Amino acid sequence: MALDRQSGSHTASKTIPRTAFVIGGGIAGCAAAYALAKRGIAVTLIDRAPQLASAASGNPCGILHARFGAGDNPLHNFVREAYLHALKLLDEVLPVDGVMRAECGLLQLACKPVEEKRIARLAEKEWPAHLLQFVDAAQAGHLAGVEMKYGGLWFPRGGWVVPPALCAALVRDVRITQRLGHEVVALEQSAAGWRASGLDAQGQAWSQEAEVALVCCAHAAKKLAPFAHFPLIPVRGQITEVPQSPASKALQAVVCGDGYCAPAVNGVHVIGATHAFEDESTELRVADHAENLASLAEYAPAVRQALGEVDAVTLNGRAAIRCSAPGSMPLVGKVQQGLYCSLAHGTRGLLTAGIAGEVLAAQICGALPPLPKSILDALDPLLRVRHQG
Ligand SMILES: Cc1cc2nc3c(=O)[nH]c(=O)nc-3n(C[C@H](O)[C@H](O)[C@H](O)COP(=O)(O)OP(=O)(O)OC[C@H]3O[C@@H](n4cnc5c(N)ncnc54)[C@H](O)[C@@H]3O)c2cc1C
Repeated sequence: MALDRQSGSHTASKTIPRTAFVIGGGIAGCAAAYALAKRGIAVTLIDRAPQLASAASGNPCGILHARFGAGDNPLHNFVREAYLHALKLLDEVLPVDGVMRAECGLLQLACKPVEEKRIARLAEKEWPAHLLQFVDAAQAGHLAGVEMKYGGLWFPRGGWVVPPALCAALVRDVRITQRLGHEVVALEQSAAGWRASGLDAQGQAWSQEAEVALVCCAHAAKKLAPFAHFPLIPVRGQITEVPQSPASKALQAVVCGDGYCAPAVNGVHVIGATHAFEDESTELRVADHAENLASLAEYAPAVRQALGEVDAVTLNGRAAIRCSAPGSMPLVGKVQQGLYCSLAHGTRGLLTAGIAGEVLAAQICGALPPLPKSILDALDPLLRVRHQG
């Protein structure tokens, strides 16, 4: 696997550009800006919203959900590399303080046949104990602090993160300038390299030029000409916030089945998340709260019970739109000379956005890529679009 890391086919010019702009101030855009700024490039981060992390990356809590597979294929290899990189990146920028981030551990429960099979296949290999461990129901209950019906996988370094806090931490660099409240409506080549332009909130025309452009604005990228034909799929999701009860306070780890439930932070558990394809509504739905609670009752019935009586009508939560692409891999790489993208992070942007930023920075600076060629090919937007066609 190490050999094809030497491939030069994914490297750009050896001349490091001085300027870049990034469209999209969610996790993908902030992580890309971070990786470029680290290499000395002056980055302008543009977002249409008045603050960072206003869309899919705006949830109050997200989990580091590394759904490992046993196969030696690009997707499974990518998820493992992305998880390790995400832990490293988090260590660089966010303290484990129980406010912005917790390393409370994460359980993936063997709550249905497909998960049992996945976990059994993983168990055929050796894994370092600091990465993952196999636990029975009794051990899982001990780790979670609440009785578990199922055993499964234990990720000791798993946990939760506050995504807007992560975004803010990633762009805390003097080389990154934020241009918020600026919607990009046109993206075209210019003498300098690329130009983004639009109207600001006051209706004033504006534009931004740089040698390199990075498009990280999720499914909205389809409105920009070079991405109109990209296979980007909007997937609505809703999280449910449930006040802790005296019994649910005992939950110490993130538990995952068909969804996830995090230990209470500031007295509130975050339970996620629903999936509705081709639905772009961000209204809160009582039915989605009920779905999240029903799902929790399946994979962790004692946790659901510990929450006590809950009236879904009264609950808070948040709905947002994920961006997916066929094949479950994000689209990361070069699109045209000087134009790159980090899109379609789907259900696991907290895991994948960081390594995606590193891939782009390496390509832009002509440096050794951080992933083997087999994975870079599977991420390559042009290969993926060609494959679709
Ligand atoms: C309910 C729910 C729960 C989730 N839970 C988890 C979880 O537990 N763990 C996990 O890893 N992932 C989770 N995800 C997925 C994760 O949130 C996403 O993968 C991630 O946020 C994607 O980041 P992004 O930067 O690609 O997109 P976004 O965060 O959507 O950012 C895109 C940005 O582009 C901006 N933009 C769009 N168009 C333009 C334009 N024309 N001009 C300027 N700016 C523009 C938007 O304002 C936005 O800020 C969840 C998602 C949802 C919806």
